[in-house]
Amino acid sequence: MQTEKLKLAIQKSGRLHDDSIKLLKECGIDISNGINQLKTEASNFPLEVFFLRDDDIPQYVEDAVADIGFVGENVVYEKNKKLKVVEQLGFGKCRLSIAVKKGESYNGPEYLQGKKIATSYPVILQQYLQQKNIKAEIHEISGSVEIAPGIGLADAICDLVSSGSTLFMNGLTEAEVILKSQAVLIQHQQLSAEKQQLLEKLVFRIQAVKKAKN
Ligand code: ATP
Ligand code: ZN
Repeated sequence: MQTEKLKLAIQKSGRLHDDSIKLLKECGIDISNGINQLKTEASNFPLEVFFLRDDDIPQYVEDAVADIGFVGENVVYEKNKKLKVVEQLGFGKCRLSIAVKKGESYNGPEYLQGKKIATSYPVILQQYLQQKNIKAEIHEISGSVEIAPGIGLADAICDLVSSGSTLFMNGLTEAEVILKSQAVLIQHQQLSAEKQQLLEKLVFRIQAVKKAKN
């Protein structure tokens, strides 16, 4: 007998929201009644969906408040929680890049030695700098990172880019890609056998949807 429901966390609103809902729909899962609430239940699959800020999703999955989640790899690696990445989802594609002022002669990571870099991704950036053996000053800011060089707060930034138009508008140019990212399915480290089975069913459907698109 089916007793447990799989608890899925997705972004409440923002760049991943619509594609997350769309993927569930393509998997044949109907959550049409309740998209504007805090949580809802699928009518035709043992699934509960929680709507959360994307930054909070890894913590909720680590704590087993949610069993699984859809979230960007950038957030997964920055938060560095105990969880498993199960499957890439093929949407939310972007890159975490270093950008410098237009006209700067960027000649590789050594350019960043001793510079100030503004970012919302201090963990990933620090790892990158360490790996390249570069000492730079990281300024963590939570939003509008792209204006930092223009107001004299930083020499460079490390931020998410997709088209590059935001960088362009702020007189910046992409110098180095440090992470290519897309939305992924994450899971709690240890699920009950019943939930693990439900997850496998869901992953099977997701893989079928991905295959149909290729
Ligand atoms: P929330 O209110 O949930 O915290 P947010 O403002 O942090 O939302 P969004 O801007 O909606 O987040 O981005 C969510 C995710 O979408 C990012 O973490 C990233 O994985 C992905 N993404 C894809 N393209 C871009 C882009 N050009 N800029 C920023 N994020 C992007
Ligand atoms: Zn966020």
